[in-house]
Amino acid sequence: MFESLSERLDSAFKSLKGEGRITELNIASTVKEIRRALIDADVNYKIAKEFTDKIKDAAVGEKVITAISPGQLMTKIVKDELTQLMGGNEVELNAKGNPAIILIAGLQGSGKTTFSGKLANYLKSKKGFSPMLVAADIYRPAAIDQLKVLGGQIGVDVYSEPENKDAVAIAQNAVKEARTRNKNVLIIDTAGRLAVDEVMMTEVANVKNAVNPQEILFVVDSMTGQDAVNTAKAFNDRLNFSGVVLTKLDGDTRGGAALSIKYTVDKPIKFISSGEKMDTLDVFYPERMAQRILG
Ligand code: GDP
Repeated sequence: MFESLSERLDSAFKSLKGEGRITELNIASTVKEIRRALIDADVNYKIAKEFTDKIKDAAVGEKVITAISPGQLMTKIVKDELTQLMGGNEVELNAKGNPAIILIAGLQGSGKTTFSGKLANYLKSKKGFSPMLVAADIYRPAAIDQLKVLGGQIGVDVYSEPENKDAVAIAQNAVKEARTRNKNVLIIDTAGRLAVDEVMMTEVANVKNAVNPQEILFVVDSMTGQDAVNTAKAFNDRLNFSGVVLTKLDGDTRGGAALSIKYTVDKPIKFISSGEKMDTLDVFYPERMAQRILG
């Protein structure tokens, strides 16, 4: 993951290794290399520039510290700033409610249904919840079947109404059913489209208004880089979601989405998903991710 960015940052720090101390000159050239590495990782220019300006200020401010080498100092500064760029502290999922309602939104193929299954599995096996999944994709009967297969694998009930073409009614009925069955978390998998479109947005917004979810999680394929960031913006403008889920991190070699999304929509990344198996879901910790990037 993010191999190229890790290598490029490493080489930027290595070029400082021979230097006895940090100077404005070697800071400038290291910062330039870092900026190029970020842009090549598909981070947009403005974010990369602002990021490296902060690195520069921090490095200039600290140049008197002689206890650690310039390379180590720069690595620490970059790690702290990467952590901040990705949100600083982790933000917990709000699953309090009777039932707690978690609405899942995103484009078709982003990994919504897979993530819904993984989240149900995580809440059930790691957090002791009693979840229920809801198939609210009224356009693709296959989406209902897919969710049922996943539910079967993890032992979680799946609520669906294959004949009903009203996503709002399905979601409302599911809330009642969850109470009857004593389920304390409801995960509603909504319909996606191949691109941002008005019908999809209106439908998800209507479901949101009808059931008043504790969480609206926007799911996005991290491999799509800047497109992921633009899609996030469109969904956030319309839905004001509460968190981001980055999927397919196993295939993302660049990292642009992970690095830019928080900055762009000012919403925390809550989970990262990296694989098709039901247990490949992780809570997102900005600091751990920064550490992974720096190797
Ligand atoms: P949806 O249309 O948004 O519900 O997307 P799906 O959950 O059906 O996922 C689309 C495809 O991506 C499927 O083939 C999934 O198996 C695959 N997929 C989902 N999440 C991941 C992931 O984290 N890593 C990988 N490699 N594939 C994934």
